Amino acid sequence: MRLLVLLLLLAVEAVWAHAGMQLHGTDDFSTAEQQKLKVWLEQSFNATNQVLGPYPFLTEVYLSRRTASEPVPWAYTQRMDKQQVFFQVDSSFDLTEFQQDWTAAHEFSHLALPLLDREDLWFAEGFASFMQYQVLKQQQQLAEAPAFWYQQKLQPLAPLLTASTLPFITQLKLWLKQRNYKAAYWGSALFFIEADQVLIRQGSSLPQLIQKYQRQNRLTDQNLNQLTNSLDALLDTPVFAPLLLKYQQQTSQQLWRQHPVYFVSIDKAAE
Ligand SMILES: [Zn+2]
Repeated sequence: MRLLVLLLLLAVEAVWAHAGMQLHGTDDFSTAEQQKLKVWLEQSFNATNQVLGPYPFLTEVYLSRRTASEPVPWAYTQRMDKQQVFFQVDSSFDLTEFQQDWTAAHEFSHLALPLLDREDLWFAEGFASFMQYQVLKQQQQLAEAPAFWYQQKLQPLAPLLTASTLPFITQLKLWLKQRNYKAAYWGSALFFIEADQVLIRQGSSLPQLIQKYQRQNRLTDQNLNQLTNSLDALLDTPVFAPLLLKYQQQTSQQLWRQHPVYFVSIDKAAE
């Protein structure tokens, strides 16, 4: 019995030995800057892992210096054989300004899902856009609930969402092609707002489901179809396949018209 426990512990160790975050490129920064950047990244990474993880792999973070009008002017993930996140930072900004910035929360959230095919970029970006505010909330960096921020992002897009008569996912892909990233990312976030609502009604939530997913299929799935099948397999009632079908069939106009009710109810709750 004792041997079995030991073997189990060793197996768990082996799986998680590569978890955590590794920082690269700090040599270009002063000791004080390094300390500030490390605190910012560790807080964001830990909050992301509390919301969506822990991640079953090592996250490699690369820093480079840039002068800009914001603390993190550019960032992206690269997932070939490693799980990498690249940040360009202007280290003249204060720690508080880094902590309030959404970029790290967004990029670390991307890693919760496997790298998807290029045509399914809308799904990856909608997910990270939805999650960035869940992570900032976990870090206690939000004065308002995430729902308030979703509304802030979506309200300016209302005319576009109402005007579109294309099936929603077709429209999202078109916006990406046209480089209308705000419309594509926050339009896609509607999918995850709805998925989270459905899961909450089932007694769970999107972050809780993604936490389970890290322990199950995160390292084996390789495309959107496998991902949504795995997520649905973790649930008593499938959510993702029916929701994908709905967003493939209904127009942005139809889907958006169902959402104002949701936003009005938030306004009422906030009063
Ligand atoms: Zn992104």
